[in-house]
Amino acid sequence: MPRLPLPHPGPALRPLAIVGLLVFIALVVMGQAFGGPPGRSTPAPLPPDQLELRVFDVGQGDAILLRSGQRALLVDAGPDPETAREVLLPRLARLGVDGLDGLVLTHADADHIGGAADILEVLPVATVWMASSRQDHPLLSVIEAAAMQGGTRVEAPANGQALEWHPAVSVQVNIAEPSVASGDNNQSLVLHVRFRESDFLLTGDIERAAERALVKTVSSLEADVLKVAHHGASTSSSPEFLAAVKPQVAIVSAGLGNAFNHPRDEVLRRLRGVGAQVFRTDLAGDVVVRTDGHEITVALERASVRRRRSWRRRRRRGPRRQCVRGGAVRRERGCRGPRR
Ligand SMILES: [Zn+2]
Repeated sequence: MPRLPLPHPGPALRPLAIVGLLVFIALVVMGQAFGGPPGRSTPAPLPPDQLELRVFDVGQGDAILLRSGQRALLVDAGPDPETAREVLLPRLARLGVDGLDGLVLTHADADHIGGAADILEVLPVATVWMASSRQDHPLLSVIEAAAMQGGTRVEAPANGQALEWHPAVSVQVNIAEPSVASGDNNQSLVLHVRFRESDFLLTGDIERAAERALVKTVSSLEADVLKVAHHGASTSSSPEFLAAVKPQVAIVSAGLGNAFNHPRDEVLRRLRGVGAQVFRTDLAGDVVVRTDGHEITVALERASVRRRRSWRRRRRRGPRRQCVRGGAVRRERGCRGPRR
C-alpha cells in the first residue's frame, strides 16, 4: 500500500509537520466542518473525486458514514432507536443523504445495531451486509424484517470479499478465523477502505485475539486513518496490531462519561506511541475526514438543535427519493426500495 509522505517526527516538530505535509486539522465547534457558516440548512456539496469518512457522535456506540459523489455507505447504526431518530437520521438528512447504497453491521451488539431497524424504516437501503457467525441477537430478526419490508438485500460477506457500493472506492472485508478468535466482538467485520493512495481501517469491536489473527493473515493492514477498535477498550489496540496499521489519524467513538471509562488511558498512550493524532467523538462531536486520495483533512463538527428541527420539518413534507418500481426509475415522495 502506498504511504503518504509524512515522516514520524519527534514531539516538538509534529504539529508543524502535520499541518504542512499531510493532515490539516480544522476545529469547527458548533459549526459546519466543510461548509459555510453555522446555521446553514444545507451543507456545501461534497467536491467530486473526494471521499469522506464521518464518525458520528452517537454516544457509546458506532455509526460511521462513507460517502463519495452520490454514493453513501453506513457502517453500524448507533446504539438505540432514539439516537437513530434524533441524531443519526437528522445528520444524514442535513448531509443530503436520502438513501444508502449499503449498511454494514459489523457485529451483533446493541451499541452497533440498535438503530439499524429505524434506519431501514426511514431510508431506502440497497444492501445490508452483516456477519454470519452469530445470528441469535433478538434485534436481528427486527432488522431483517425491516430490511424485507423495504426491499433491501441482506448478505453475509465472505472473508476477503469486496463490497460493491462505489466504483472508485474499495471496501474489503477482513474477518478473523473463528477457531482462532472466537466471540462476537472478535468476529466483527473489519473494513479496509482504499481510495487511490489513502487507506482507512474500520475495526468494529475486535479484541486482541482477532487483531493477532489479522496481523498474521492479512498481507497489509497499513492505514492512514484507524477507527479504533472497541471504543478504546484496553483489550483492543494491542501494540503488535498498531505497529502493523501505523495510523496517522486515530478516531475513537465513545460516549461522554461512559461507564466503561472508554477510551482507556493506556490505549491513548499506545496510539500516540505509534505517532497517531487521536480524535474522540465524546470530546469533539462528529469527526470528519476527507481525502482526495492523497492528502487528508480532519475536521470536528457538533450537531445542533436547529438541525434536528430541520429534519422533522422535512419528514412531514415527505422527502423526494429516487425509486425503482417495476424496472422503471422515477422520483416520487416517500417510496421505498433500493436506490439507483
Ligand atoms: Zn461496541
